[in-house]
Amino acid sequence: MENHVATTMPITNDFKERLAGHLEAIADHYGTPFHLYDEMGIRETGTGLNQAFADFQGFKEYFAVKALPNPRILQIMQSMGFGFDCSSIAELRLSRDLGATGEDIMFTSNDTSDADFAAAEAAGGCVLNLDDITLVDKVPNMPELICFRYNPGDQRSGNSIIGNPIEAKYGVAHNQLLDAYRLAKQRGAKRFGLHTMLASNELNYSYMVETTRMLLERVEWIAAQLDIDFDFVNIGGGLGIPYRPGEQPLDIQAMAHEIGELFEVFKTHNGYVPKLYMESGRYMTGPHGVLVTRAINRKEIYRTYVGVDACMSALMRPGMYGAYHHIDVLGKHGEQETVDVAGSLCENNDKFAIQRPLPKIADGDLLYIHDTGAHGHAMGFNYNGKFRPKELLLRADGSVELIRREETLDDLFATLNYQTDVFVPGAD
Ligand SMILES: *Cc1c(COP(=O)(O)O)cnc(C)c1O
Repeated sequence: MENHVATTMPITNDFKERLAGHLEAIADHYGTPFHLYDEMGIRETGTGLNQAFADFQGFKEYFAVKALPNPRILQIMQSMGFGFDCSSIAELRLSRDLGATGEDIMFTSNDTSDADFAAAEAAGGCVLNLDDITLVDKVPNMPELICFRYNPGDQRSGNSIIGNPIEAKYGVAHNQLLDAYRLAKQRGAKRFGLHTMLASNELNYSYMVETTRMLLERVEWIAAQLDIDFDFVNIGGGLGIPYRPGEQPLDIQAMAHEIGELFEVFKTHNGYVPKLYMESGRYMTGPHGVLVTRAINRKEIYRTYVGVDACMSALMRPGMYGAYHHIDVLGKHGEQETVDVAGSLCENNDKFAIQRPLPKIADGDLLYIHDTGAHGHAMGFNYNGKFRPKELLLRADGSVELIRREETLDDLFATLNYQTDVFVPGAD
């Protein structure tokens, strides 16, 4: 696959075309490295999703904030009618600072703390998606609308990033599900949702159809036992994108069509249908971002290394999961050589590509690493004191906007400025 001469590029061809003429000038103006996101592409994907599910009354995408937690991106999501899926206090804060409140926000936390609950209840609240049956008693005030995350255990197989459900730390076990809703009802909940998230980066839409089928079956079963109706089912995120050249994109139309058929059947049996929610991150922004970095060192030892000015602090996925990200060299095609593209960390897995055929790269060449629009910048870290890079937005009108600056030494050392606190245990 890796020496395939790409004809279908993972990032949308339009984005590539829009970039091609301007990337050098953008890099000169802002300096490398940076992530650059494509507003037009994000809007096309969002509009396409809304159109595919237009027949579903109350359909709502809750953008998974963790995928690309930048206010300018979240504003774009908001303008398309999307809510936010949050799982931390910081993500709640980002969403609320944009005016999101109540049912605009889904709080899907895991290992939830008292502080998490307090933040979730503050400022107009949000939809609580509880991760365990024991949390029913820990919610300070049971809201009218409550949701549980379901873990079907051995009734479903997961996929490789998220793991096998039976080994996954998430959600309420099958044999606890009825009791969870019963207890929530006893504590005063009146409206109910059911959520699951079983796959990650899944390109086969049938998997999501099967997930929906499972949720609707559980809803019928719980509703019959407890005499409640369901407000919504949330099929989670996990829609995949084609990272590798030649992979086919997920067929969102077919997915919507087949889920629609399941909803029809449900309606015939039950006289109503719950609303359909999802919380995609990767699918919404993944293909609409690139990491732009300059080659600064060429090293020939047992292998040829292209050293670039970005490192894992900007993009963890290759080092962490061995994930493939396609790479183009600006303005270069033709004769290829096999190289490792590496960053500067004292970690041998700090590589964006391993034994990858690429056009011959010289110092100063610009590389752009595809599909960094989700779980890219956000996952970065500060090991070795490396900075996370800036983020830019290529706006629909063709202008470019700085939407996050690069980190500085002062940012890294901020946690070393504090009031000293020395304590001698047992000395009081
Ligand atoms: C990470 C996450 C998502 C988004 O996943 P994608 O693969 O980016 O679609 C959605 N929901 C929950 C609960 C998550 O943890």
